[in-house]
Amino acid sequence: RGKRAFIAGVADDNGYGWAIAKALAAAGAEILVGTWVPALNIFETSLRRGKFDESRKLPDGSLMEITKVYPLDAVYDSLEDVPEHVKTNKRYAGSSKWTVKEVAETVKDDFGSIDILVHSLANGPEVTKPLLETSRSGYLAAVSASSYSYISLLQHFLPIMNPGGASISLTYIASERTIPGYGGGMSSAKAALESDTRVLAYEAGRKGKIRVNTISAGPLGSRAAKAIGFIEKMIEYSYVNAPLQKELLADEVGNAAAFLVSPLASAITGSTVYVDNGLNTMALAV
Ligand code: NAD
Repeated sequence: RGKRAFIAGVADDNGYGWAIAKALAAAGAEILVGTWVPALNIFETSLRRGKFDESRKLPDGSLMEITKVYPLDAVYDSLEDVPEHVKTNKRYAGSSKWTVKEVAETVKDDFGSIDILVHSLANGPEVTKPLLETSRSGYLAAVSASSYSYISLLQHFLPIMNPGGASISLTYIASERTIPGYGGGMSSAKAALESDTRVLAYEAGRKGKIRVNTISAGPLGSRAAKAIGFIEKMIEYSYVNAPLQKELLADEVGNAAAFLVSPLASAITGSTVYVDNGLNTMALAV
């Protein structure tokens, strides 16, 4: 039987989540996605109207099928955690069962189990503020949406993951080297995510024979990255300074992700794997 993947953090065809979904679909996996509730309507409408058909194309000419799109807000673990103003917000009121626990339960009811869990989401409301000017609530929101969301997803999905399965997330080198402009606690959130990758690899490995890795990706002009404000500068910096002077394609990250969750990577767990044209290795470029 083919493998089944749940990919959290797909809301258009520009980001890493979409590229990972495509690479997994090309390798024969069944694709389920989790889409942020406020973005759900436009994503489903665009899908239905064929707006993504060009980018749904797989190497064999067929179109990627998304078996089901689940509304998800990974900041909330269960219904009891959702504040009243969110419950009644009109963008949320139209959907239901979008907390992490409920999504895992619904996937279990729908399909029984999954093999692959992908976390491709992040959010930092104060990302444009220097760390020194970040508020407590902004910092905690960044860590909640970008780091704890992964713990919560794995915690709730692990019981329905088939042994031998794998999970990955996406991180950024601002966790270990200073990148002015990647603020609001997002650098801290990525540092937590990478540390958690090691600890969760141990725990999920022992508990469920599941591998856990994270990809430290180079810059991509996704929707989320554009919100940071200087993504074009980062892409140009990488082009000039990296060992490989070429554009980094989302598909290259997608392919690396497909490798990492496949049996080809059966002894790799707890790792931060760079997919960045080698930029992380440079100290001084000439
Ligand atoms: P993206 O906009 O495609 O993906 C981010 C997704 O997160 C969006 O679909 C958004 O709707 C979703 N999201 C935000 N808050 C959420 C929540 N509370 N619950 C559920 N979903 C939520 O952008 P991307 O750049 O492809 O980001 C994917 C991952 O890649 C992120 O972890 C990001 O930090 C990481 N990354 C990106 C870059 C880059 O340059 N773009 C570099 C390294 C790592």
